[in-house]
Amino acid sequence: MEPRDLSMHTPYRAGRGVEEVARELGLDPDDLVKLSSNENPFGPSPAAVEAVRDAAPTVHTYPKAEHTDLSQMLADRWDVAVEQVWLSPGGDGVLDYLARAFVDPGDAVLVPEPGFAYYPMSARYRDATVDSYRLSREDDFAQTPETVLENYDDHRIVYLTTPHNPTGSEIALDDIETVAERTDEETLVLVDEAYAEFTDAPNARPLLDDREDIAILRTFSKAYGLAGLRLGYALVPAEWADAYERVNTPFAVNSLACRAGMAALDDDEHVEKTVETARWARSYMHDNLDAPTWESGGNFVLAAVGDGTAVSDAAQREGVIVRDCSSFGLDDCVRITCGTREETKRAVDVLNEVIT
Ligand code: PMP
Repeated sequence: MEPRDLSMHTPYRAGRGVEEVARELGLDPDDLVKLSSNENPFGPSPAAVEAVRDAAPTVHTYPKAEHTDLSQMLADRWDVAVEQVWLSPGGDGVLDYLARAFVDPGDAVLVPEPGFAYYPMSARYRDATVDSYRLSREDDFAQTPETVLENYDDHRIVYLTTPHNPTGSEIALDDIETVAERTDEETLVLVDEAYAEFTDAPNARPLLDDREDIAILRTFSKAYGLAGLRLGYALVPAEWADAYERVNTPFAVNSLACRAGMAALDDDEHVEKTVETARWARSYMHDNLDAPTWESGGNFVLAAVGDGTAVSDAAQREGVIVRDCSSFGLDDCVRITCGTREETKRAVDVLNEVIT
């Protein structure tokens, strides 16, 4: 027996894990610094850890009340109706749910290149065709309405990422509005704000008041440090918010994630420390790395190091794991997640040693 033809579905390659690398290199996992997956170097909020512990004895029940409570908390924060909050297993779940809600087989979607690998994957599960718009390195990966619209041809979903992974570039709110304005009213502009906590740029929330063609992706994986719990959400316009009940996998967001999410949302200190350290780390890397870097609004920096694979392999042997960007089509680059001050300094020292 064979699965259906999955040849168009490329496997997702995540950044390498500490245990995996330690085993391969015969190193102690505690001596490794992992800066390859844009995770929170401070871990989760202590309040979230406590919430998970407290909730552990009740995991025999389905997560209904917790789901409602977290959705309500987010609705209050964003000043939207509770139906406009689509909780999902990670930001990845948002991509699945919006593809389920909007894409018919044969529809086309438009993704950035380079860009986040799960945009095309989630659309292809719906048998969509995938086109791309290029962010050009000559323009420092600038995102303008023109870069996006040059390749627009009545696509069903247009994906925008701000700050953008892996380059760190951003797209201004006015420009997002221009893209939405100039595309067909049946085109959804999906604004991926997975890293938005790390930038001062205004978020796209105000657009939801006047537009039906925008959805915003948010996640607890980055600034909130809950990547392992898989928690994210979309903010969607009121007009079609009720589609959630038809596309949501029942109970896909688990109760521990919901409780941790609520605790994390209330821990301003943890988020502030995380964001402040990421800002420091970005400028430290720009100033001290012996390689050109790009301006970044996220918790990572893209650096042109020559041979990205060779440099990331060599850094790894020295205990620092960074992301080789060849899978993004950027063979000469690595992406370095902002660590703690100590981790970031060590990463820069090691990278400077191995960059030739
Ligand atoms: N969007 C972007 C741009 C990302 O980089 C990621 C994760 N690396 C996600 C969405 C999804 O993150 P998660 O599923 O962990 O919330």
